[in-house]
Amino acid sequence: MSTFEGKLLEIDGISVDEFTGKNITSRAFFLSHCHTDHMNGLNIVSNHLNNDSFIYMSPISAIIIKRTYPELKNFIRQLAVDETHLIRIPNDEVSYKCVAVTLIPAGHCPGSVMFLFEKCDGIRILYTADFRMTVSTLQKITHFHNDDGSTKTIHKMYFDSTFWNEDYTNFPSRSESSDYICSIIEEWISKGKEYFVSLSISAKYGSEYLYKEMYERLKMPIHVSNFMYDIYSQVLDMRPTVTNDPKKTQIHSCSTNYSCYAHNIYCLDNIKQANVRHVRPSAQIWNGWDEKSDLFKEKNDENFINVCYSSHCSHNELKEFLSYLKPKCIEPCVVPKDNPHQFYQSINEYAKDFIESPCIYEKKNLKLNVNETESLCDSKNIFLNNSDSESEEESLQRNTNNKMKWEITPIRALVSNKKIKLFTL
Ligand SMILES: [Zn+2]
Ligand SMILES: [Zn+2]
Ligand SMILES: [Zn+2]
Repeated sequence: MSTFEGKLLEIDGISVDEFTGKNITSRAFFLSHCHTDHMNGLNIVSNHLNNDSFIYMSPISAIIIKRTYPELKNFIRQLAVDETHLIRIPNDEVSYKCVAVTLIPAGHCPGSVMFLFEKCDGIRILYTADFRMTVSTLQKITHFHNDDGSTKTIHKMYFDSTFWNEDYTNFPSRSESSDYICSIIEEWISKGKEYFVSLSISAKYGSEYLYKEMYERLKMPIHVSNFMYDIYSQVLDMRPTVTNDPKKTQIHSCSTNYSCYAHNIYCLDNIKQANVRHVRPSAQIWNGWDEKSDLFKEKNDENFINVCYSSHCSHNELKEFLSYLKPKCIEPCVVPKDNPHQFYQSINEYAKDFIESPCIYEKKNLKLNVNETESLCDSKNIFLNNSDSESEEESLQRNTNNKMKWEITPIRALVSNKKIKLFTL
């Protein structure tokens, strides 16, 4: 559960994954994915947004948020994944700053992304958000690498530390977990048409990888609630994997707990309960799991089965992620209530060879050495041009090159794939 308060200390005027308190004065917002611990205040944020303030997110998150909060429709700006965009952060009515942002798939739930921010002074900040990624995937992400293959310097990393805990050293890979889940479902429903599976999902989103695997292997769509069906049917990949007709399938995931509701009716109500197998993918209860352990725990009998399935990295995967990118400064975004000091110490100890200590102990020390560069950057504010005959981009180029002597080139040079898109308002 995220404990991050929303502000990136290195970039004024923006907030990420938090829409309450001091964040409401921000002028640009970023949403990494649609889990409730990252959406605090999103339901009331429209009261505080100006005409030039926007909430940036991936296209899939935009579908979900528009469906959940229709009043935010005009404030949502979707940014293509795997591309770099130049975002304006308004300072006041006449001037703004720019920051480049790249959305990187986070492998956590549909539409979930990491945000890689790059400032005009060369400072690079990675907000990982919730993620599950192995080093072999990381190696393929061009945005993290220079042309010679070396990794780009990450000056600051806001880090999903959910399972930074020795009790969660390992998890099975997602494909191992989903293979196992498919096999126990297959075994059950092959007994006959009168046998059903109720899939109990702990978060609203996050099991879609599983749905796809099941659909491909079992050739049967998954019954989901009408609300979820509305959303999934707008996502091309997901459309065939789900149904809103409970009679079309033996697999039900129409609720987030052990019951199976649809249209407010218990859709397996008339089924003999002995014929319903409840399968619950989960990660939290799997402390101490290793390769020799089973992937499942039966609750009482064969009808209630917990399966180890994680959409966050294990402790080992987190260590590998840090060791590969070697961020100079780390701010963990999920800090345990019990013994936070020991938790910080453990990250610091692990990362001591590459971090610029003591950067993870106290917030005031987290600001790196960017004070000088920050003011340099501020002096490069761009002034809006009111002429209608000129495009925003032309205006930006003209102002930056001539008036303010700020060239866009340094930011272009920062990114490897050259596919910068100016986000037009
Ligand atoms: Zn989270
Ligand atoms: Zn999440
Ligand atoms: Zn159902």
